[in-house]
Amino acid sequence: MSLAVALHFTMTIVFVSCENKVKDLTPPSVSQTDFLPSNCDIYYLGDTIQVHFTCMDDTELGNFNIEIHNNFDHHTHSTEAEDCDEGEEHHHGEEEHHDEDVEGAWVFNQDYAIPAGLKEYTAHIEIPVPKDILDGDYHFMLRMTDRAGWQTIKAVVIYIIVAP
Ligand SMILES: [Zn+2]
Repeated sequence: MSLAVALHFTMTIVFVSCENKVKDLTPPSVSQTDFLPSNCDIYYLGDTIQVHFTCMDDTELGNFNIEIHNNFDHHTHSTEAEDCDEGEEHHHGEEEHHDEDVEGAWVFNQDYAIPAGLKEYTAHIEIPVPKDILDGDYHFMLRMTDRAGWQTIKAVVIYIIVAP
């Protein structure tokens, strides 16, 4: 092996090993077009919420959390695509979710793992709506995290009503 070839070989190895250590600086993304539940979806007590979305990360996906909490106080998150209600909206930060512990209101909070090494993942999850909760406005929140810890939040408004 000539010196030139040996040097080139060494440089290639160095380049490849550097490439593997590139830092993940980009938060994961969540598809907007095929995301379910849709904003303003209506469910009856006892229905099943079909959750569907595709998420992507340029390096590696981590895991995600789904949380459903009541919106009886008509608060908003900055991540909603649009508002369903006419008027009476006020904004507050997540740390101000003070009045969610309404007795009888539904609280759902579940972590989900994504298999290691994936850059794209499509989730299909069924979440049963309990029959014995208070009906009303709820927020469905998805918190998607990549392996490096970057987080993307998507929130939609859903309505849970008493079956006719
Ligand atoms: Zn909320």
